[in-house]
Amino acid sequence: ATPMSVMVGVGKAAEYGALIRQGDALQTAGKLDLVILDKTGTITEGHPAVTRLHASDGDEKRLLTLAAGLEQHSEHPLAEAILAKAKEKQADPEKVTDFKALNGKGVQGEFESKPLRLGNRRWLESEGVELADLAGAARSITEEAGTPLFLALGNEALGVIGVADAIKPDSKAAIQRLHDAGIRVMMVTGDVDATAKAIAKKAGIDDYRAEVLPKDKAEVVSEMRGKGHTVAMVGDGINDAPALAAADVGFAIGTGTDVAIESAGITLMRGSLHGVPDAIEISRATVKNIH
Ligand code: ADP
Ligand code: MG
Repeated sequence: ATPMSVMVGVGKAAEYGALIRQGDALQTAGKLDLVILDKTGTITEGHPAVTRLHASDGDEKRLLTLAAGLEQHSEHPLAEAILAKAKEKQADPEKVTDFKALNGKGVQGEFESKPLRLGNRRWLESEGVELADLAGAARSITEEAGTPLFLALGNEALGVIGVADAIKPDSKAAIQRLHDAGIRVMMVTGDVDATAKAIAKKAGIDDYRAEVLPKDKAEVVSEMRGKGHTVAMVGDGINDAPALAAADVGFAIGTGTDVAIESAGITLMRGSLHGVPDAIEISRATVKNIH
């Protein structure tokens, strides 16, 4: 494309709320044949809420005070949900020491001289916690497209908390536009398979990968590029930055983290996924103008 037509295209994209940060991003957008979407904060609102509390001993308030004791040290969207629920139920967070966040697994601290852990099943089981008694409650959570977070003190399972995040109202329509434009759409998430499947179904996506650790999202992008695809990655989180940088075009959700925005060629100021098909259409029109 000529510099002039690209400038016009960049201006047009800006009208749609798509800010082009890297010069060639708009031109490449027209060639995309695969769009990979992060789940949380990208397809979904990114403001999850607690939907279920299931305590092994029936003491739900205790479950919340301990979970909140951990999450008050975390900045993950899941933490926000748990802290909001604790506040609502007047469950004062317990004092937890030696806090650490484990990427893609959960959060851990020390309470009454034992490790207190809140996170996904795979991680807690690998730490020797028996979760069979909570399987039924966890299934009810995943069936509703929620994420089950298991709480354990030492080896003892204390309960499971369901946290669910609503899909943005226009995600499904934007994904449909991509499909209509002949573009393959795939979702990647650190969440468990059942939850990922439920969200993908609601969003109209039949191609997804679950339990992808943050550091492996970029590898999925590289793998698909290696198969000959021209790949867009769309994400909002710190975790998504390497994948955004690895894609042919990275789209950062404008309400997301600064790190994601800096790693992406295009910023979607309106937070809506419609910015992706908008940019692709503008790019295709821009390039067509000169041939
Ligand atoms: P996503 O790809 O959806 O952004 P992450 O990679 O951040 O997800 O997290 C993957 C999983 O790790 C979560 O679904 C959850 O089970 C667990 N996890 C991560 N952070 C936390 C936290 N602060 N509290 C509880 N669980 C967490
Ligand atoms: Mg995200």
